[in-house]
Amino acid sequence: MPAPVERAAAASSPLIDPYGRAISYVRVSVTDRCDFRCVYCMAEHMTFLPRRDLLTLEELDRLCSAFVARGTKRLRITGGEPLVRHDVMRLFRSLSRHLVSGALEELTLTTNGSQLVRFARELADCGVRRINISLDTLDPDRFRALTRTGSHAEVMAGIDAALDAGLKVKLNAVALKGVNEDEFEALVRFAHARSMDMTFIEVMPLGELDGPDRLDQYLPMQAVRARLAQSFSLSDSAYRTGGPARYVTAAETGGRIGFITPLTHNFCESCNRVRVTCTGVLYMCLGQEDAADLREPLRANPGDGPLHAAITAAIARKPKGHDFVIDRATQNPAVSRHMSMTGG
Ligand code: SAM
Ligand code: SF4
Repeated sequence: MPAPVERAAAASSPLIDPYGRAISYVRVSVTDRCDFRCVYCMAEHMTFLPRRDLLTLEELDRLCSAFVARGTKRLRITGGEPLVRHDVMRLFRSLSRHLVSGALEELTLTTNGSQLVRFARELADCGVRRINISLDTLDPDRFRALTRTGSHAEVMAGIDAALDAGLKVKLNAVALKGVNEDEFEALVRFAHARSMDMTFIEVMPLGELDGPDRLDQYLPMQAVRARLAQSFSLSDSAYRTGGPARYVTAAETGGRIGFITPLTHNFCESCNRVRVTCTGVLYMCLGQEDAADLREPLRANPGDGPLHAAITAAIARKPKGHDFVIDRATQNPAVSRHMSMTGG
């Protein structure tokens, strides 16, 4: 057991991994549940975790605050759908103290938008400035087919509510061959007309699903870019958000288009992030199985010393990069957990 002085030092020392990368970005999933069942993310009939397995809002606050004390500057709340977690605004309100103190630079979230009519204003009041909203299609019928349970009208109203509340919005669409590729241009025009960035994401081989085969749906970002280049004059942009997206600017709209290519290794070198699941499992890399349980040290101890020790030990194991492959022989995903476990 380290002496109290050593423990205090551990609790405030910045998190630097073995490759010299400072861990300054943490994504925390607050629930595995969702009101949608997007075909690329969830099976139609999901078994969700029992409530006792989830970190409580107080535990989530302690965990996030421990990372903030260790140099986390950006905190992204995700899920599942973070805004369906009961009383989640209590967590946002409490975490906003780190924005007020200046320890945290950004508190943000990724959402499907379904609850934003209710929560956009309150999120802005908590100091949230930028949010990501997932929107794969502008067509209500297609939206229903892709999300299985989602209401397009609700999400559209949610986007308006976020913009009205003064939030900066980035739209994310998963690029799916034969599903929404005919809408890429329309999505860009829709986003840029409202001063929103539009980002496209390659479909990732996460989790066993009962939906369509993702090998058939996989569309490389070069193909997305090539398709958009038929409608827009694209030029590379130096803009970065600290995330994995690479941006181009469309001359016709003046807006930005982002591309996220998780299947290639082009952002591992600068990876400054880790992810925590709603059960308190810390994943040091989205594409690797190695993980550390933070729930046990959180639950077993009212003080945060053991939690900090567990975080320190885990960051010391952060791998250099990941190895995503959709295995063409077995068609198995390289990583078997669902995206809704680790959060997008
Ligand atoms: N429910 C929220 C939402 O949809 O924005 C937050 C969680 S969701 C898991 C985060 C992001 O992951 C979404 O933009 C979603 O489209 C993306 N996503 C889910 N499964 C994916 C997959 N297999 N490949 C690529 N992106 C995926
Ligand atoms: Fe829910 Fe988001 Fe997954 Fe869709 S992508 S099922 S909205 S968690």
